[in-house]
Amino acid sequence: MKKLNMTTAQPGLSGSPSINRSRRTFLKHSAATAAASTFGALLPGQKILAGSRWATMDAPPHLPPELEVYQKTFINWAREVVIPDVWFCSPRTAEEMVTLSNWACDNQFKLRPFGTGHGFAPTILGRRTRQRRVILVDTSEYLNQVTVEPGHSIPSVVAGAGATVESICRACEPHGLGLYHTPAPGGVTIAGVLAMNAHGAALPADGEQLQPGHSWGTLSNLVLSLTAVVWEPAVARYELRTYQRNDPAIGPLLTCLARAFIVEVRIQVGPNLKIRCISRADLKIDELLAMPENQNEHSFANLTRRYGTVDVLFYPFNQQQIAWTKFWTVTPEKPTTSREVTGPYNYQPPGSETPPEVADAVAAQLRENPQSVPLYNQQSVDNMAGLIAIEDPAVQINDLWGSAYCTTLYVRPETPRHTVAAWGVIVRRADLQRALGEFYQYFRKLIADFEGRGLYPYTGPVEIRAHGLDQPEDVLVDGAVPPTLSGARPLPDDPDKDTIIWFAINNNVDQPLAGTFNYQLEQWFLRNYRSYGVVRPEWTKCYGYSLLSRDGGAWNSERLLRRTYPDTFRDGYPQGADWDAAVSQLNSLDPNRIFTNDYLDKLFPPSFGRSPRPSA
Ligand SMILES: Cc1cc2nc3c(=O)[nH]c(=O)nc-3n(C[C@H](O)[C@H](O)[C@H](O)COP(=O)(O)OP(=O)(O)OC[C@H]3O[C@@H](n4cnc5c(N)ncnc54)[C@H](O)[C@@H]3O)c2cc1C
Repeated sequence: MKKLNMTTAQPGLSGSPSINRSRRTFLKHSAATAAASTFGALLPGQKILAGSRWATMDAPPHLPPELEVYQKTFINWAREVVIPDVWFCSPRTAEEMVTLSNWACDNQFKLRPFGTGHGFAPTILGRRTRQRRVILVDTSEYLNQVTVEPGHSIPSVVAGAGATVESICRACEPHGLGLYHTPAPGGVTIAGVLAMNAHGAALPADGEQLQPGHSWGTLSNLVLSLTAVVWEPAVARYELRTYQRNDPAIGPLLTCLARAFIVEVRIQVGPNLKIRCISRADLKIDELLAMPENQNEHSFANLTRRYGTVDVLFYPFNQQQIAWTKFWTVTPEKPTTSREVTGPYNYQPPGSETPPEVADAVAAQLRENPQSVPLYNQQSVDNMAGLIAIEDPAVQINDLWGSAYCTTLYVRPETPRHTVAAWGVIVRRADLQRALGEFYQYFRKLIADFEGRGLYPYTGPVEIRAHGLDQPEDVLVDGAVPPTLSGARPLPDDPDKDTIIWFAINNNVDQPLAGTFNYQLEQWFLRNYRSYGVVRPEWTKCYGYSLLSRDGGAWNSERLLRRTYPDTFRDGYPQGADWDAAVSQLNSLDPNRIFTNDYLDKLFPPSFGRSPRPSA
């Protein structure tokens, strides 16, 4: 069979359009980009000012002149959603954002916050969105300032919505401050991360104490205060309002799922930890994910007790049954065998990335000829093992040491594209191995069932990570309010459940029958863990599968979206701080529903909360 040319796959960014960073640059390039656009739809990255002679859409009416509104193609990271001719705006200040919000309210436009587009869920625009009266608000261009305040009563960072996680970590480092764990890509914005409840991986090794300023939970649990654009009934206008972490009203805004607009945040930060990351390719999946009765020293739960944070990535088909296992261990002094790293993205030597056009060709081949999945998997595993085996001390990846973010940010721009279905399962730490063992048993069976019928709906890789819950005691503020809608929200009735395992089911975009595969998996998650765990969706990814819909079936099950998942934020929570209270609060902050879309209307139906402003 023909060899597929593909390096090992971790999700990441590639081929992003370069976005003009200043108005002057924009004006310089606009003629050229506009000329190109006359030959067809806008290319990704092209910007055409509303009202200019090159615009192909009627300008939104009565635009305040200070606002830069432009036409561009919307494309998400996975390139699953590509919608030409969308209005964007890049506010230069929070006040401009307020102006835009009041304009949108007066002119019946919707505003969708936009960071750097890494999300998979249709909380910005869905694949089939054809809505015209919508503007995407890009925060990354101007609202991206980062101020580190080491001398503040709590060492913290004030960041504009569009500041990236990488820029925050880089700014903290000279002050001896940082984050313990981060999402894998550094190019994500802080508001996008908080809105969608992003997280890294962080489990304490036996005896490990959390340093003040860090949290075992999601990044939402780091927030000390945030500023949002909200409706002020007294003046009947949208205005800026800052919420402190001990204000009960902040709960739904800490993970707002893009049903609100955050312009600025203050997050606590802790000491800049030095972390060693060892990568191994010799551990067998059936040992790592063994049932408790078969576990050994190489099983996930035992490894976490010894090393702390562990991440396992594996492909469904590989003869050696090996995984890429990463161990992140807080290690103050550099071990002699480690390579010191001073910046992020160290898990692939420069130049070894798959060019986007090759990755696209492989993706197409996998779709058209799913029987090639096992071969693709085996090659990916061989490449992975090859990377981990590199001995050249200048580029070795199997033993890295440096500031936390230099080892926890690992998805780089050139990484091949995937789509991701993902769920979190909250369990007691004592049940960690059982939860993993049961998953692997079912997963193998599911793969075998499909393979037995000659079907390959899943290309991999699976990535498994875990961390603690969003405990208020991690926050350096008395009376810290938990993030109401965080997947890692603690369970008041069941405080022993202290760990969330995230199962990321990365797959080729539009792989045939992937929806059916994910549907079966999701149903199994919900059935299997009912007796000893709580299953929640990873909000930014794919979940809520139904067999009766298009686009792979994600986000379509009315029952899961309106009942099953919301119930996990109802059962056991006080009435004023549960799912329904969050919906009602978010609706009250935006009664005119400018910060929503069709999908969010399912999650946050208008029937909750204050009535909208009567139309003018
Ligand atoms: C390759 C890859 C790897 C990933 N790895 C991880 C990981 O390790 N851990 C993890 O948790 N996640 C991970 N993610 C998901 C990612 O962290 C989230 O999708 C995050 O929301 C992306 O931030 P963004 O700036 O790209 O946001 P966007 O995709 O631009 O926006 C995401 C959502 O946030 C909303 N939003 C953006 N800005 C604001 C704002 N100012 N106010 C309110 N809402 C806002 C948007 O409307 C949208 O609905 C990964 C994604 C990719 C593509």
